[in-house]
Amino acid sequence: MLLRSILLYLSRKKKFAESIMKFSVFNKMALRFVAGHTINDAVESAHKLNQTKITATFDHLGENVLTDEQAIESANEYIVILNEINKHKCIANASLKLTQMGLDISPSLCLSNVEKIVKRANELNNFIRIDMESSNYTDLTLDIFQKLRKQYNNVGIVIQAYLYRSEKDIDEILKMKGSIRLCKGAYMEPSTVAFKKKKETDLNFIKLTEKLLLDSEYHAIATHDEKMIQATLDIAKKNNVPNNHYEFQMLYGIRRERQLELVQQGYNMRIYVPYGKEWYPYFMRRLGERPANIFFILKYM
Ligand SMILES: Cc1cc2nc3c(=O)[nH]c(=O)nc-3n(C[C@H](O)[C@H](O)[C@H](O)COP(=O)(O)OP(=O)(O)OC[C@H]3O[C@@H](n4cnc5c(N)ncnc54)[C@H](O)[C@@H]3O)c2cc1C
Repeated sequence: MLLRSILLYLSRKKKFAESIMKFSVFNKMALRFVAGHTINDAVESAHKLNQTKITATFDHLGENVLTDEQAIESANEYIVILNEINKHKCIANASLKLTQMGLDISPSLCLSNVEKIVKRANELNNFIRIDMESSNYTDLTLDIFQKLRKQYNNVGIVIQAYLYRSEKDIDEILKMKGSIRLCKGAYMEPSTVAFKKKKETDLNFIKLTEKLLLDSEYHAIATHDEKMIQATLDIAKKNNVPNNHYEFQMLYGIRRERQLELVQQGYNMRIYVPYGKEWYPYFMRRLGERPANIFFILKYM
């Protein structure tokens, strides 16, 4: 728990990030969780996944941009992603973070950037998933999602099971027929807003999974936790939920054998494929989830 807190604390330190990212050895290590630096790397990874009947969601790494220009540039990169997915016939959609689209600068700038992306995705018959960031952004993120969802049905959202508020948020989203990716939550949160014990988050995850599987929309259950996977399979079996009514999602580079196994057993599986040079906070959150990964780094070094 202490190590996790340290890693999540460091994930937000820009100066520390700049020093780490200068070393090519760390860049190479990040490739355990990141497809590469360019869109071509992401396309290549998606093709490999697609060959095994696994779908993908592209993520261009980057968050908390500070200028309008950076936010617009980030939005333009997502237009490139959608065009490349279409051109290379990848079975993939895209996931994005609102702080990468200018949420810290102005919610209206962010909304117009994301709307441009969702509109292009709509033209290409594709889908955009809005990732959920720390709890400082939950209200703003849900607000932007709801505004977009009223106009477009090809946009979905992420809900984090560690937040106390999530059941209520899910109820609101289901009322507007929104599509949800349920995950546990990856940020450092105080006990005033989030469960601190794994057991409590897990119980809430299972409760919320049941709500999603019994809903009429198509939702995603994002976890590598075998207990959560089994609970999902049990809920589906008990309630006769067909395999094609929902999908599992996992992150690139984590539990690859289990990803394949679930697909071979007839379940839908989508992999989150991040790429880009801004890998540092993403990489640190992955280490925070499983500090044992630090041993992998030490072994590498
Ligand atoms: C597709 C996808 C999208 C996500 N989007 C978001 C988002 O928008 N917002 C957000 O806050 N979080 C997001 N997350 C991260 C999520 O919140 C969790 O932090 C992460 O998935 C770890 O939780 P877990 O359910 O896998 O279980 P945990 O309880 O963390 O882990 C259970 C077991 O899974 C395996 N495992 C978990 N993580 C790792 C790892 N890094 N390396 C190796 N093995 C591991 C280990 O065997 C571990 O014992 C996303 C996760 C996925 C899979």
